[in-house]
Formats: sequence, structure tokens, C-alpha cells
Amino acid sequence: MTEIQDATDAFRKDLSSSTFVRAMVETGVRPFYRTMHMTGAGEAVVEGRDVVMAGCNDYLGLSTDPRVTAAAAEALTRYGASCSGARTLNGTLPLHGELEGRIADFLGTEAAAVVTTGFQANLAVAAMIGRGDIVFSDMSNHASLVDGIRLGAGRRVLYPHSDTARLDTLLEQATAAEPTAGKVLVTDGMFSMDGDLCRLPALTELAARHGARLVVDGAHDIGLLGPGGRGVAEHFGLMDRVDLFTGTLSKCFGSTGGFLAGPAHVVDYLRYSARSILFSASMPPAALAAGIAALGIAAAEPWRRRRVLALAEALRAGLRALGYDTGDSVTPVVPVLIGDATTCALMWQALLDEGVFTNAVGAPAVPEGRCVIRVTVQATHSDVHLERILDAFAAAGRRVGLVPELPAQAVA
Ligand code: PMP
Repeated sequence: MTEIQDATDAFRKDLSSSTFVRAMVETGVRPFYRTMHMTGAGEAVVEGRDVVMAGCNDYLGLSTDPRVTAAAAEALTRYGASCSGARTLNGTLPLHGELEGRIADFLGTEAAAVVTTGFQANLAVAAMIGRGDIVFSDMSNHASLVDGIRLGAGRRVLYPHSDTARLDTLLEQATAAEPTAGKVLVTDGMFSMDGDLCRLPALTELAARHGARLVVDGAHDIGLLGPGGRGVAEHFGLMDRVDLFTGTLSKCFGSTGGFLAGPAHVVDYLRYSARSILFSASMPPAALAAGIAALGIAAAEPWRRRRVLALAEALRAGLRALGYDTGDSVTPVVPVLIGDATTCALMWQALLDEGVFTNAVGAPAVPEGRCVIRVTVQATHSDVHLERILDAFAAAGRRVGLVPELPAQAVA
């Protein structure tokens, strides 16, 4: 039975309500599910074509580093491709313990638990939100945190992006209505679409004043920000004011996998109660070894953080000089506001034609009509790469009418 039966058929779903999908159909542009691989040093091959990779989260440029890939290859040969089971049962290798120790040392927490993906690390947060607890979540939090919160048994309260004054009011109201409820504040450290930072000083103050626990998803900022690369909390000098960190190895640490780091009793509790840990095969050997190697390199080579942050600054300045709006970005995630879905699709294609791969982002990741081209830079990008990205934005922008045509004498 493949055809749709009638109006009651649960499979009577399609993508026609998505403005982004409609724009893709109308323009014939396909920004998604393209086949590609990174070739190193900020470049990639997209369906046979060499391009500058300006659309991935490998901020420190470690996923193709020979030291990382060699460590992964060795672990693959030694331990096989998979653990074929969950951590609790047969899925714990010495590498899991080693990585957990390294992450806890790096962040200065009592303990850490490694999870198969960053998404699953955030789903595990559900275990900290019990019946009778109230969780307060920034409206721009990542989908995985949103899902983790939804899976929790407690009540969910959303606050507008980074609106800590509103959050204060909501916390006060909650305390008045339910004085015995446990309270948890949950936020991304660095927001994945806007490239801005959470207001951690205000959040820690609110957590202390209202007796709430604070959970920070450091997926994008751990490895990148702060003098030692420990993330947004170190950037603000507030490492000891965060109760639980979640994070991933898929951005700064060149691998795939997730983690939770915090007090030993919380991490132990999560190991036995978070369903995304208990009921999923553990991180595979190659990914573990890659993560361990990358963590060591990230800590030992601070030039990578400095380089990528400086590149991002130069990228924003260059884009603004061309007349683009890069929003509140202060990090290597630089969203370029385009507007409607059709222009965004055309712009994405024009950039690819100019030899630069970026990310086209539409609703629901951003509000309807506020489509962006999300550009990311890597420590391994050269100054020539940066110039190529900016030249592509100038040429592509002219093609789709976002950048004025050059005056005649400049063309000549
Ligand atoms: N948190 C944030 C803020 C993210 O952006 C992402 C992935 N884009 C994740 C968590 C999930 O991480 P992973 O890709 O390792 O599952």
C-alpha cells in the first residue's frame, strides 16, 4: 500500500507548506543534501567541484588534521568499527573513560559522561527536569535542547531570546505560584544561527537569586572561546557558576560525539537515568580517538582560536562594507540577512557558482521572511580564502540584486 488512501491517511503529509521547499522547486536550486567532503585547510569538494568551505562547524579545522585522522585510523583497526551496544552493557572501551577524564580536566568539572552525539547529550537534560520542576528555556535554543526539555516531566516556560528582564519576571511569577518547584535555566552558550552569545553574567545572577540551576549547551563555544578555550563561561569568567555543561565533539573537536560535564553525583545520575545514554550504542572507537586527539590539539594550539575569531571579525567587516547585515554575530558563525526564501536560494546558488559553499537557512530555523546565508570560517582558512568569500558575496550579491552594480569606470 504506497498510494495515499484518503483524508484520514496518516501518511498524507508533504513538504508543500514549507516556503523554503517551495522556493527550491520554483528556482530549481538545491541547497540541501548535496554530496561533499572536506579536503582539508578550509576547502571541500562538492559533487566534483573544488570550493572554499564556508558552511561547516569545524571552526578549528581539526576534522582533517593528520594527527586526528591517524588516531582515528589506529583506534578503528584496534577496536573495530562499532561497540555494538550501549555504555551500560558492552559499549565501554578504555577510550570512553579516557575521553571523559580529558573533558572533565579541560572544563574543570568533577566528572563528564560521553554520549554518542551532541543531540543526545541535550536529550539527556530531560532527566534533570522531573515532575514538579520548572524549566526556563531561551526561545532560540537549539532543537536538541528544545526536545530534551520537552521530554522532561516538568513544566516548560519559554522566554524571548536573551531577554533576561523577562526571564526575571517569569522566575518571580513561578516562585510565587509554585514555591517548592525546582527551577532549571537552560541556554545555548553560543547561538548556532545568530552567532551571538548568551547573557551569562545576567543568567548566573538570576540563577543565584531565584535558586535555580543553570545548564549551558557549549556545543559551539567549548574549544573556541575564553583564554583557555573552555567556552562562553570562561569568556565571562564564570566557569564555576554553571551547574551542568552539555557539548559536542562535532564542531571544535573534529569528530562526532557528545558529552555532559558537571558534579559527579549529577553525571552518575545521568548515566543511569538519561534514556539517550542508556538506550543507544556508545560512541564508536574512531570517533573517540579523533575526539581525544583533537581535544589535545585544541588545548595546545591556542593560535587556532585566535585565528578563527580574527577571520570572523574581518569577514563581518568585509560583508558590512558590501552593505550586508550580519546581525549580532560576534563569533565564527556569521549570518548574512537575505530576507525571502527565493532570493536566499538564488544567492546560495550564486555563491556556489563563485566557488564558495555556504548554508542557506530558512524557517523554522529562523523566522519566516528572515532567511539568512550562514557563513562560517575555520582557523585553517587563509587570507586568500577570506578574499574569495568576500569576492563571491560581491559578485553573487550583484547577480541577485543585493549589491549595487559597479559604476561603469570601475568595471572598465
Ligand atoms: N547543540 C547545538 C547548539 C548545536 O548547534 C548542535 C548541532 N548543530 C547540537 C547541539 C547537536 O550536536 P551534534 O551535531 O553533535 O548532534
